Amino acid sequence: MTTHKNKLIAGNWKMNGSLSANTALVEALKQGVGNPACDVALCVPAPYLAQVQALVAGSPLALGAQDVSAHAQGAYTGEQSSVMLRDFGVHYAIVGHSERRQYHGETDETVAAKTAAALVNGITPIVCVGETLAQREAGQTEEVVKRQLAAVIHVNGHCISEIVVAYEPVWAIGTGRTATPEQAQTVHALLRAQLHHAASEHAAGIRILYGGSMNAANAAELLAQPDINGGLIGGASLKAPDFLQIIAAAR
Ligand code: PGA
Repeated sequence: MTTHKNKLIAGNWKMNGSLSANTALVEALKQGVGNPACDVALCVPAPYLAQVQALVAGSPLALGAQDVSAHAQGAYTGEQSSVMLRDFGVHYAIVGHSERRQYHGETDETVAAKTAAALVNGITPIVCVGETLAQREAGQTEEVVKRQLAAVIHVNGHCISEIVVAYEPVWAIGTGRTATPEQAQTVHALLRAQLHHAASEHAAGIRILYGGSMNAANAAELLAQPDINGGLIGGASLKAPDFLQIIAAAR
């Protein structure tokens, strides 16, 4: 295949953690991570951004958020803008996670607006796409993920190469039911082809992460697929030994 940047392993803590648990987890990660061959990010709950910013300072662990507002400031109760996230050293923001699409009604348009807002302030959006089980069984996987990716491909004035894509089949998230490496690679190749069509000179360098029950046992095989350039890790990112094994598998 072509030259990709480093793989990216991003932990998505979701709504988990506490001051003491976060300290223990990040200290264990710092001790074990060494000089990783991949990029590593921790996407933490908003109240802990300042804490984790201090904990990861000077380490190879980058800070990420789990969402970002589409707006710069103003009357948007409960939201965090990309400007605020920058204040806390945030490098990445997950955008359009299926849990936000499902529980918070985020549409492709919302996801595109949030992607643009992140890019404006130099935050790399990790844009999630993925089909539900019903959609997969109805043979709609390709249509769904292509529609979701199309929404962010032409974000105002920005190059698609500035985003990270995460393919997360909804039926594999938190279920212990991982996509097989072949199933994942098939969809990643579709997404790569779509990126190629939209921006051929950049497509090879855009990282497409897999997410959905990736763990210490299955990471190496998934990450060996030619179009899988990293992982978005939920449950297994909360356990230092497991997350470190996934990082080690990403060369
Ligand atoms: P999981 O979550 O690894 O626990 O399946 C992944 C995600 O939702 O990002």
